[in-house]
Amino acid sequence: MGRPVQYNTNIKPAEIPEGYSGEGFMATKLDQLVGMGRANSLWPLPFATSCCGIEFMATMGSNYDLGRFGAERMAFTPRQCDVLLVAGTIAKKLAPVLRQVYLQMAEPRWVVAIGACASSGGIFDSYSVLQGIDQVIPVDVYVPGCPPRPEGILEGIMKVQELTKNESIRRRTHPKYAELMNSYGIE
Ligand code: SF4
Repeated sequence: MGRPVQYNTNIKPAEIPEGYSGEGFMATKLDQLVGMGRANSLWPLPFATSCCGIEFMATMGSNYDLGRFGAERMAFTPRQCDVLLVAGTIAKKLAPVLRQVYLQMAEPRWVVAIGACASSGGIFDSYSVLQGIDQVIPVDVYVPGCPPRPEGILEGIMKVQELTKNESIRRRTHPKYAELMNSYGIE
């Protein structure tokens, strides 16, 4: 006899964007509608090099289940992904590869530095380790910890969702964004 199936009865529906609604209609801003779609369909690219990557694997497991956030569709193809999850120590030799992966991602794209190594080099204050990935690519969210627990990684994903929900669809063409990219030598 199989085990009885337990259904989650506490499922919260996705938040509806602010606006006006009545019988048979709803009006809102395009920004908010696009933001809602983006926030609930993130496609991450895991760039995992060491121990933090193992914590990330736990985050993908059934206990924590990144699928609850609509972000379970991992891919290693930069052109399909919009969130770069960097988990682990990045050696200086690997930095150009990471940058290349970032450059191959289409806009809009977000970057999460998972753990102390990706954020700041962590305990590896040595000649060979990059002291934070923000030296080569812009970072949107930093997740602290060595390693961060899966809850911390989920918090990071939720922060990305917040950013995507509240981002204007004009941000990526704004001169300030171009300025940020230029500061990294990206045209
Ligand atoms: S932050 Fe700690 S756990 Fe994560 S890759 Fe660095 S040494 Fe490993």
